[in-house]
Amino acid sequence: MDIKSISSVFSPIHSLIKEIWNFKLEKALSDRVVALNELIFSAQSNMLTQQETITVLRAKNDELEKEIRRLTEWEEEKKHYYMHEPVPGSFVWRYRPDDGANQTTAQRPKPSHDLCPRCFDKSERSVLQGFEYQGHRLLSKKCFSCGLVAYVDKPPKSTIDFF
Ligand SMILES: [Zn+2]
Repeated sequence: MDIKSISSVFSPIHSLIKEIWNFKLEKALSDRVVALNELIFSAQSNMLTQQETITVLRAKNDELEKEIRRLTEWEEEKKHYYMHEPVPGSFVWRYRPDDGANQTTAQRPKPSHDLCPRCFDKSERSVLQGFEYQGHRLLSKKCFSCGLVAYVDKPPKSTIDFF
């Protein structure tokens, strides 16, 4: 066998090895592309989850800022009331009007009124409304938010002694 014929025998083998080598490279490359796609998909999935978390946290933050603003305003509003006992054992928070000298029109003193003590303790403002009258006398006021009834005057002795 001469060199030329030996070379011709190995030529297809070289081609085959080259094909196998290319196949291995393509398979390795393909595996890397698949792995890269999986990483990209995982990263996208994590980003979506993070985005959802950020959206929920922003909504919660807005809610908390609103509550802080409400409580800050409430702390200022509370200064205009004092605890009052119109009838022994019945307490209300009574409006303490000021002169309104440094206030805008919207902040001018309000008419005399009482706030519900139960709602007041929950940092909520609820004006007690006339509820029970006897003749022309107002005996009690009711909170239409929580249902509390606060007595503002004693009933006449005749009704107490009725039983
Ligand atoms: Zn109430």
